[in-house]
Amino acid sequence: MTRYSAWSLLRAGLSGQRTWTPAWREGKPRKRYQAVIIGGGGHGLATAYYLASKHGMKDIAVLERGWIGGGNTGRNTTVIRSNYFFPESTRFYDFSLSLYEGLSRELNYNIMFSRRGMWTFAHDRHGVEMLRRSVNAMRLNGADAEYHEGADVLRRIPGLNPTPRFPILAGLLQPRGGTARHDAVAWGYARAADRLGVDIIQNCEVTGFDIREGRITGVQTSLGDIAAERVGLAVAGHSSVMAKRAGFRLPIVSYALQAFVSEPMKPVLDTVVLAPSTGTYLSQSDKGEIVVGGTLDLFPSYAQRGSLPVLEHTAAGLIDLFPHFSRVRLLRQWAGIVDVVHDSTPILGESPVKGLYLNCGWGTGGFKAIPGGGFCLAHHIATGEAYPLAAPFSLDRFRTGALIDEAAASGIAH
Ligand SMILES: Cc1cc2nc3c(=O)[nH]c(=O)nc-3n(C[C@H](O)[C@H](O)[C@H](O)COP(=O)(O)OP(=O)(O)OC[C@H]3O[C@@H](n4cnc5c(N)ncnc54)[C@H](O)[C@@H]3O)c2cc1C
Repeated sequence: MTRYSAWSLLRAGLSGQRTWTPAWREGKPRKRYQAVIIGGGGHGLATAYYLASKHGMKDIAVLERGWIGGGNTGRNTTVIRSNYFFPESTRFYDFSLSLYEGLSRELNYNIMFSRRGMWTFAHDRHGVEMLRRSVNAMRLNGADAEYHEGADVLRRIPGLNPTPRFPILAGLLQPRGGTARHDAVAWGYARAADRLGVDIIQNCEVTGFDIREGRITGVQTSLGDIAAERVGLAVAGHSSVMAKRAGFRLPIVSYALQAFVSEPMKPVLDTVVLAPSTGTYLSQSDKGEIVVGGTLDLFPSYAQRGSLPVLEHTAAGLIDLFPHFSRVRLLRQWAGIVDVVHDSTPILGESPVKGLYLNCGWGTGGFKAIPGGGFCLAHHIATGEAYPLAAPFSLDRFRTGALIDEAAASGIAH
């Protein structure tokens, strides 16, 4: 496989672009693997990559029922941050953020990580107090956070409405927050995993599990049965469906989360902005589109489309923040199915079936967690022990009551 470099670019250019090789092989399933990962989103691919790169396991397959990155990984608004409230969350997400910072180099693939900072606003006195506490909590837990008065926020973000319906009294800035190209994260992990021998098998749906005496022995797929004693489940909004097939229940509800982009424009917004009053958040992509997300469509659904009222509400929130965008045309709208846990904290680690490991419950915020989630689950699958940062996210917390309630942390419903 071609290693990407200035030299390979030059050589391909001189040969009329004929020297490029496919980024990953067309995988054909074998009858048995040491480990199988279900779901070719960012988390599944990252888990396979770290199993191969950090733990030396080579005999791995990623099974994806559609195309890799075609789920939430390729549908999200790409915001990366670690602005959580509780130490368990901030440490984990900050670890993931630090992996993102070196990911292009590690994968030899430009994931277009852009450290442009992320703002969360406060719109009333209560919000201001919560924002101050969040800044303090983040700093205490080792993440970067700055508190800014409203006038300062207005000065720093050109075009922001000085008199919005919900006044901007203060802002929390996480300077290390930002965005990355979502497809590139999936493709980069896939390419790097493939190079280490991982089979990436698309159009292969897992339809059932082979379980003997409470232990997994393999999976049933649309391309035949595959034996494996270690299986990772990373299927986001379909986690509870798959858990049911394996004979247990997960405390997850699946909702549609939608987003939209405008027509491309010249650079006008160089940061990420979130207004909790309306749940609207936005950034500008490298192509120039304004990328806008909002709150969940609050009814359970497996349809990858959102409803008009949420779209309208989000668009109104956008125009309230930046009135000049009212003249910009909306180009595309879509939705993904997100896996929401009651305490808005992911589930990472063992399931009630021995050898079947869970990576789910990311809700509206799992893109930023892809490197961290994959790294931690790979550790658990390879060693049989939870990686310390992920230990608080076990399914067992619903038995012990050690929940980590982050429902208010991102400023939007999730
Ligand atoms: C509109 C929107 C905006 C978002 N914005 C952000 C954001 O700004 N920042 C952020 O951090 N997060 C965001 N998220 C959340 C984030 O996208 C997800 O949490 C994350 O991508 C989950 O990754 P994943 O690999 O777990 O899931 P996915 O990428 O969904 O991958 C799961 C894969 O499993 C496959 N699959 C399902 N069932 C089977 C089966 N039976 N057999 C085989 N394969 C199967 C699916 O086809 C899919 O490809 C957003 C989500 C949406 C929808």
